[in-house]
Amino acid sequence: MKRTQQIENIKANSEWDVIVIGGGATGLGVALDSATRNYKTLLLEGTDFAKGTSSRSTKLVHGGVRYLAQGDVALVLEALRERGLLRKNAPHLVKNQSFIIPNYNWWGKPFYTIGLTLYDLMAGHLGLGRSLPYSKKRTIKKLPAIKEKGLRGGVVYHDGQFDDARLAVNLAQSVIDNGGTAVNHFKVTDLIKENDSVTGVKAVDLLSGENHTLYAKAVINATGVFADEIFQMDEAGGRRKVVPSQGIHLVVDHEFLGGDYAIMIPKTDDGRVLFAVPWRGKVVIGTTDTLINEASLEPKPLQEEIDFVLNTATRYLKKPIKQSDVRSIFAGLRPLAAPKSDGKKTKEISRSHKIIVSKSGLITITGGKWTTYRKMAQDTVDKAAQHCGLGKVSCKTGKLQIHGYMKNINLNDPLYVYGSEGENIRNLVAENPGLEEKLHERLEFIKAEVVFACQNEMAMTLDDMLARRVRALFLDARAAEEMAPEVARLMAEELGKDEKWIQEQVEEFSEIVKHYYL
Ligand SMILES: Cc1cc2nc3c(=O)[nH]c(=O)nc-3n(C[C@H](O)[C@H](O)[C@H](O)COP(=O)(O)OP(=O)(O)OC[C@H]3O[C@@H](n4cnc5c(N)ncnc54)[C@H](O)[C@@H]3O)c2cc1C
Repeated sequence: MKRTQQIENIKANSEWDVIVIGGGATGLGVALDSATRNYKTLLLEGTDFAKGTSSRSTKLVHGGVRYLAQGDVALVLEALRERGLLRKNAPHLVKNQSFIIPNYNWWGKPFYTIGLTLYDLMAGHLGLGRSLPYSKKRTIKKLPAIKEKGLRGGVVYHDGQFDDARLAVNLAQSVIDNGGTAVNHFKVTDLIKENDSVTGVKAVDLLSGENHTLYAKAVINATGVFADEIFQMDEAGGRRKVVPSQGIHLVVDHEFLGGDYAIMIPKTDDGRVLFAVPWRGKVVIGTTDTLINEASLEPKPLQEEIDFVLNTATRYLKKPIKQSDVRSIFAGLRPLAAPKSDGKKTKEISRSHKIIVSKSGLITITGGKWTTYRKMAQDTVDKAAQHCGLGKVSCKTGKLQIHGYMKNINLNDPLYVYGSEGENIRNLVAENPGLEEKLHERLEFIKAEVVFACQNEMAMTLDDMLARRVRALFLDARAAEEMAPEVARLMAEELGKDEKWIQEQVEEFSEIVKHYYL
């Protein structure tokens, strides 16, 4: 996946069937669906693939036990099906994760065993394993760090767990593998309209500064919490439609959890679900739900959110988590439907996605979850075909293997997330053994991954590299900061950049990293 090649495609083609704005889970899914239907497809991402909410999830591929409790059966059925398909189509990235709901009262065990058995039944042949009640002894064995006082037992169930930004990179590669064009750092600045209909976009290549005018039969707005910026280009002065709600996660060392099982707290003080999930050698704990005024690419966790997660987790763990134990902290934004008039309350856009066809023909897809990105894309491209004069072609992604597809992966191999591409990283090491060196003693990443990401994964900035190709920023922010100068130097060698570029990148990254530690 070379950016220069993608830019050449864009220069050689000003007319497309489908232009997708936004390269998060939603936009990438739409572009992949569209490309595999043989529509001439272009995806434009303003910063980097998954720079927005899509690198900041809880990393679960799940049916949503919470939505089952709320009675949203249709959503859970859809998500469970998509969970199963994604595990089949990207087995290198989605693993089976066991969760335990710890019970501290008499009714918890029977109640959750019944509910989760229903969850299993709903997954049908795409299930990941049976839910079972556990004795207190077995619960402690699987969750060595759980608070034992008052514990009566637990209920185990299964969901998927994944690396969100790595899946985004693999989806971008899949778009290109299937004949589409996808590029990062390429921002849409305006819509082109003829006779009140949207016929294309104006966009700028942020790395070269070049402006482009591009036409398409269908323009799809998949910009998540930034959807209003595109709505404004369509209809200046129109009502605000989306307001963001923030969810934060804290990342701590694995010892705070102990084993390989995750904890799920079904009801926190504010009525939400709290997860503590092992992820790439650390534990991700979250999340919150806080209304925020402005959408931002670097949302900032609030002190009250941090306190809430620390206090709630500490209630269930033997060893209290202190602020100084937190290796990284990250926030993501979910879209809420803005109130139609002042004084009214915001309302969460249903977790089942919503497709809006504007008068101009602009198609916007919002809401949904990472887990259901494929189905969201299918529905969006169906809608585009219906409204924008694309020939009718059926969806092909149900059984489409994602780039890097590999079965029987070894979870103990730190390169497992690359799937079939792991071999190419090992080949780089064979050619130059120095590339096997770790980038930081506290993290598993090696130099060869940096070289590989420059050559094959369109990593253009230090932030692209340390946040979303190797996940250092999300796992240990100070380690990411410490390794930054060396990684910038390695990147400069690969990308043909000079000393000034290295300095600029390190400075820009040091501004970003500040939001990730306490
Ligand atoms: C705290 C939290 C936890 C979550 N956990 C889970 C989970 O565990 N499992 C799950 O299934 N789902 C989860 N979700 C939901 C999931 O993360 C989101 O549904 C999904 O990431 C949304 O993707 P998106 O592509 O719509 O938005 P985004 O990822 O935000 O992508 C929008 C993209 O548009 C780009 N963009 C904006 N303006 C322009 C422009 N003018 N030109 C070009 N590009 C532009 C942005 O740079 C951005 O990359 C979670 C959400 C939150 C907030």
